[in-house]
Amino acid sequence: MAILVTGGAGYIGSVAVEHLCKQGERVVILDSLVYGHRQAVDSSIPFYEGDIGDKTIIEKIVGEHEIEACMHFSAFTSVGDSVKNPNIYYENNVVKTLKLLDVLVGGNVKRFVFSSTAAVFGEPQRIPIDETHPQNPNSPYGWSKLMVEQILHSYDTAYNLKFVALRYFNACGASDSHGEDHDPETHLIPLILFAAQGKRDSIAIFGDDYPTPDGTAIRDYIHIADLSQAHLLALKHLRNGGASEFVNLGNGGGYSVREVIAAAKKITGKEIETIIAPRRAGDPSRLVADAKKAREVLGWNPQFPEIEKIIESAWKWHSLNPNGYE
Ligand code: UDP
Repeated sequence: MAILVTGGAGYIGSVAVEHLCKQGERVVILDSLVYGHRQAVDSSIPFYEGDIGDKTIIEKIVGEHEIEACMHFSAFTSVGDSVKNPNIYYENNVVKTLKLLDVLVGGNVKRFVFSSTAAVFGEPQRIPIDETHPQNPNSPYGWSKLMVEQILHSYDTAYNLKFVALRYFNACGASDSHGEDHDPETHLIPLILFAAQGKRDSIAIFGDDYPTPDGTAIRDYIHIADLSQAHLLALKHLRNGGASEFVNLGNGGGYSVREVIAAAKKITGKEIETIIAPRRAGDPSRLVADAKKAREVLGWNPQFPEIEKIIESAWKWHSLNPNGYE
C-alpha cells in the first residue's frame, strides 16, 4: 500500500515525504511543479508531474499503485495574492481538490490528510484559537480552505471519507535536506534571511499599528518537522479507525514581526534593516493556536517551539542553499 502525496515537491510536502520514507512508508508523489521543485524529491520515489484537477492522472496513479491514503498539500497559499486573484485560488484550491476527491472516493481511497490553515478563522474573537472558534476568513485563501473543510465533512457523511484537516498556523524552518524556496517569496522568515544574506536591502514590516504590544502582527510559528510529525500521527489515527477531525497546529505562544526580526539578528549575527510598510490586505492582527486537541487526539508533541531554533534551522538551509534548489 502507498500514500499519495500531492505537492510532495513543495515546502511542507517534501518534508512529510522525507519523514514518511524514513518510517518505511511507500510514497507516490503528484506535483505540478508550478511551485514545487523536482530537486526536492529523491529520484527513487515514484513521481508524477501533473495537476490535481486532472482526473486522468489521478486515476492512473490510483490504478498503478495501491493507494491507501492521500496527504493533500498542493495549494496556492499566498494570502495577499488571493485577495488580488481570488479566481485562481478558488479554482486551484477548491475546484481541483473536489476533482481529486472524486477520483479518490471512486477508487475507494478513503483516508485523507488535508493541509488546512489558521486563515479559516479570520480576525480572532479570542486567543488562543481552539477548534470551536467561529470561522470567518478574511481572505479568499482562507475561504478556499474553509470550503474544502466543508466538502470533506459532507464527503464523510455521504461517502464515509475519513479525514484529518490540519490547520497550520505559520509553517517555517527547515530539515537538513529540505527548506523553503518559493518564487516569488512572500513569507516573513525567508525574506528576513534574504536581507541577512544581502540578497535584499531590507525587510518591510507590514503594519506597526496593530493592537499588539509592539504594534506588529503576531503569528504562531511552527517548525515544519513538527508539522510533518502531525501528518504521520494523523495517518496513524485514520489507520486505527479514528473519526474525522479538524485539528489546530501551533505552539500556543506567538511572536510579533519585530520579535522574529530580533531573533533572526541574533541567530545570523547580521544587521537587518527594516522599513515600515502599510498593512497587507487580508492579514489578521494575531493568530495563535490552542493545540490541546492535537496533543489529546493525535498525541502530537512538538519538538521545536522556540523561534530561535526554527530560524537556526532555516538559516542553516539558506546558507547551504543560497539559491534555493537551483
Ligand atoms: N510580514 C511582514 N513583512 C513581509 C512578509 C510578512 O511584515 O515581508 C508579516 C505578515 O504581514 C504577517 C507575518 O509577517 O503578519 C507572517 O507572514 P507570512 O507571509 O510569513 O505568513 P502568513 O501569516 O501570511 O501565513
